[in-house]
This record gives sequence, structure tokens and C-alpha cells, in this order.
Amino acid sequence: MLDMSKVDLCPDCNKEGLTFDRGLVKCEHCKAKHKIEYLAENVLGISDEYEIVKDGGELPIFDCPDCGVTAMVFDDGNYEGYCFCCEGHFEAGLLIKCSVCGTPDYKEDGMSSLCRNHQWA
Ligand SMILES: [Zn+2]
Ligand SMILES: [Zn+2]
Ligand SMILES: [Zn+2]
Repeated sequence: MLDMSKVDLCPDCNKEGLTFDRGLVKCEHCKAKHKIEYLAENVLGISDEYEIVKDGGELPIFDCPDCGVTAMVFDDGNYEGYCFCCEGHFEAGLLIKCSVCGTPDYKEDGMSSLCRNHQWA
């Protein structure tokens, strides 16, 4: 589950008002520029990035199926996504995770779990 109450919340000053700015997310209050990774931890409720990276994992940030920018946080548990660039919220059930490359994409009628790059392969 993504914590949607935190997607517009600056982790530094605790105020709402984030805008996407050239690959980073900028806070309009304290002017801090955050990496997507930093905000993803917050939204996913991950307290320690090191714990994930240490185990060989990566933070689940993918290309957004809508705008194509690598700014979508994806919850592997319920397949929910949120894009910091276009601010799109992909509710659980809307997306699949490609069984070939692991990229989330829209679920198509009758299609199994393949992204648009692999559907016709
Ligand atoms: Zn701030
Ligand atoms: Zn997007
Ligand atoms: Zn794929």
C-alpha cells in the first residue's frame, strides 16, 4: 500500500507542495530538491534504504505508463503505483508487472502479465 497522504508532502519541512522539476521533486516551501528515491521511501513506508540495497534490492521506481518518465513508485505487494512527474495514481488492479522485464504497465483485456514492449514479442 502506498501512503497517498505523503505523495505531496516534503519530508524535510513537512508541508505539502511538491512539484516535479527535471528529474527531481522540488518543495515550494523550503526549496529543497529531493531525489525520487528519497520520496519513494517515504511513500512506501521504508525506513531504511540501506536495508534494501544491502540485500541486493532496489527501490521500486519505474517508467510511468502514462508520461514515460522514470518517476513512478510501485508497490509490489498490491501493484499500486504513483508517478511524481504527472502525479498519476494507479490504483491496485490497474497495472500488471511484466513477467519478462518486471516493468509495470497497464493491464490489457485478455492479456497476461506482459508490458507493451513484450506483448507482441
Ligand atoms: Zn520542504
Ligand atoms: Zn507519469
Ligand atoms: Zn516487459
